[in-house]
Amino acid sequence: MDNYKHRPFWWDEAGLEARELAEGAADLPDKADILVVGAGYTGLSAALTLARGGREVVVVDADMPGYGCSGRNGGLIGPSFHKLGLSGLTAAYGSERANAILRESMDSLDFLKNLIKTEGIDCGLKADGRFRGAVRPRAYDTLLREAESLHKSVGLRFEPVPKSEQHRQIGSDYYHGGIVLPDDGHLQPAALVIGLCERARQSGARVFAPARVTGLQRESHGFSVQISDRLIHADQVLIATNGYTGAELSYFHKRVIPIRSAIIATEELDPQIITELSPKGLGYGDSDRLVIYYRPSPDGKRMIFGGRVFDRADRPDKYSTDLKRLMTRIFPQLSGVGITHAWSGTVAYTFDHAPHLGEHDGIHYAMGYCGSGVGRANYFGHKIALKLLGSRDGKTALDGLDFKTHPLYTGSTWFMPAILRWHAIADRMGL
Ligand SMILES: Cc1cc2nc3c(=O)[nH]c(=O)nc-3n(C[C@H](O)[C@H](O)[C@H](O)COP(=O)(O)OP(=O)(O)OC[C@H]3O[C@@H](n4cnc5c(N)ncnc54)[C@H](O)[C@@H]3O)c2cc1C
Repeated sequence: MDNYKHRPFWWDEAGLEARELAEGAADLPDKADILVVGAGYTGLSAALTLARGGREVVVVDADMPGYGCSGRNGGLIGPSFHKLGLSGLTAAYGSERANAILRESMDSLDFLKNLIKTEGIDCGLKADGRFRGAVRPRAYDTLLREAESLHKSVGLRFEPVPKSEQHRQIGSDYYHGGIVLPDDGHLQPAALVIGLCERARQSGARVFAPARVTGLQRESHGFSVQISDRLIHADQVLIATNGYTGAELSYFHKRVIPIRSAIIATEELDPQIITELSPKGLGYGDSDRLVIYYRPSPDGKRMIFGGRVFDRADRPDKYSTDLKRLMTRIFPQLSGVGITHAWSGTVAYTFDHAPHLGEHDGIHYAMGYCGSGVGRANYFGHKIALKLLGSRDGKTALDGLDFKTHPLYTGSTWFMPAILRWHAIADRMGL
């Protein structure tokens, strides 16, 4: 039985909670030009752009900056292509828009790398690629076909890796070959939160936490917002709460589906073991429907291994065991290794598998990254800020998509365990 801490490894490594990243709610001002709700990548990236655009920006988070997905994720970065793929997108939106949406996915990755570089954020960025393994022989052909089609349509770079050459990318015999996406990579998620928050504050944004928005009232000019025991006025409001959107923001609550994803971190290992498992320090994923993702820690001493979990509740007793079993199926070399951290968070899915940004009833929003948001949340946070600033550069390929809900969906995800179990069965049957 592992004696793990039930908290993100990243928080300990980056000292997230010890940083003074926010002011207390008692110091909230009476008014702001723009109130940003949520201090994850979306909210902080938007705040940086808005503050540099000359606006008085107040960011509030119900817990602390990076408390949500942004301080908990696997840190894997890539273009995060729309789940429908080229053919599904073309069927839904026509070829021109489909291509624009896919191209913008590539732009979001470039944007993130550039943001980290120009802002000088020290977040362990390693952009040497990601290996996607084929769990079955047939999946190898599918991976190649999909990558080839993305190469033709939007110039995605990829390298086929036949099984005979797999050991150069991964110290495992689990896969039947795969592809390397050389522009992908990984980073330290909490360190990125810290860097963004510091840059946003240095640019003039004020960040407050813990400070939960519990009510939002439209007025003749702007909004009156209830935050903790304070009522403040904001000319404009940006909702950046993603998978942590509560019923107090009911329009958005009914449009994002929070799905739990969990991660374990191994104890420190001999760096030689990590080099054997991950010779080039890549990020990893595979062809199964039930998502898994893994990568070495930035110091190259641990394996960080994550995936979707069946329970709606946060059950580390269950997912630590399940993830460890999956990890040792891929890397038998890790059986017997201890787990030091186990944690989870809720990613935000949407009914059309696309992120959404725009304006509803005068309230701006950006959310719904469907589990792949490190690049996209930073990018769309910037874009929604440009829209708030009235800049034409805020235009995106996703503009105007209907932010759908379902008449029977109230924000409760009672149906998710059944869907995820079906994905697991489909994976086992090779469907
Ligand atoms: C376990 C896990 C692994 C993941 N792995 C990856 C990965 O490897 N690669 C990848 O690209 N993506 C990954 N993701 C997804 C990615 O982390 C998210 O898409 C991204 O961080 C979303 O950022 P955000 O700022 O929109 O939302 P969040 O970071 O979730 O921020 C939302 C914030 O809103 C605050 N909030 C909510 N309600 C209120 C309120 N009423 N008042 C004030 N504040 C409020 C919350 O406290 C929270 O801090 C993962 C997510 C999880 C959970």
